[in-house]
Amino acid sequence: MRWIELGEGVFARRYEHLDQTLGLVVGAERCLVVDTGGDEVQGAEFAAAIREITTAPWLVVLTHAHFDHHFGTKPFQPCPVWAHERCGPAMGADRATWVANFRRQHEHERAQRLLEAELVPPTHVLTGEVSLDLGGRKVTLLHPGPGHTDHDVAVDVPDAQVLFAGDLVEQGAPPSIGPDSHVEDWPHALDGLLARDPATVVPGHGEPVDAAFVRRQRDELRRS
Ligand SMILES: [Zn+2]
Repeated sequence: MRWIELGEGVFARRYEHLDQTLGLVVGAERCLVVDTGGDEVQGAEFAAAIREITTAPWLVVLTHAHFDHHFGTKPFQPCPVWAHERCGPAMGADRATWVANFRRQHEHERAQRLLEAELVPPTHVLTGEVSLDLGGRKVTLLHPGPGHTDHDVAVDVPDAQVLFAGDLVEQGAPPSIGPDSHVEDWPHALDGLLARDPATVVPGHGEPVDAAFVRRQRDELRRS
């Protein structure tokens, strides 16, 4: 695990497992946690790492309902949990599949952790976009339309020109197209993110990238 500082008080935390990337935006009064990881052990590790950076109260935003993005929420409780309105109903649907995947890969401890993780539903939902004041800094949670799922939420941090894209963007691997993805609409969702003019885009998996990388990924999706 390692932190990458992307701007003042804006961080990505990288994990070897699934090449995952979680996020943190620190304001004067609150900090925003972008995704919480795939189980409570990862969530607790992430929470402790955040506490070495800031003591500000946190709120959580979930980029989407896939297991690796939200089953680490319990260690952050109690706190507000933001997500798209369609995220809550979709949460947990992939748990059994991934428990089986991990068992097949002889990752029994990881399978058990996922099996035991508490599903923490969102407390606050959005449909289009919402602006949150973290104290001296505003961030926007936005749903750019269907893409990786029908309920992706990105986080724009305009004062740092950083945008957390969830799995709408992947670095190190092609975008993850699943049965719940909307491939035809996905390029349009990426246009919505690019319209925010980010200098740095943080993918849900892989290293932070620039806007040119996102444009290339959009064009590849358009051809697929
Ligand atoms: Zn995903």
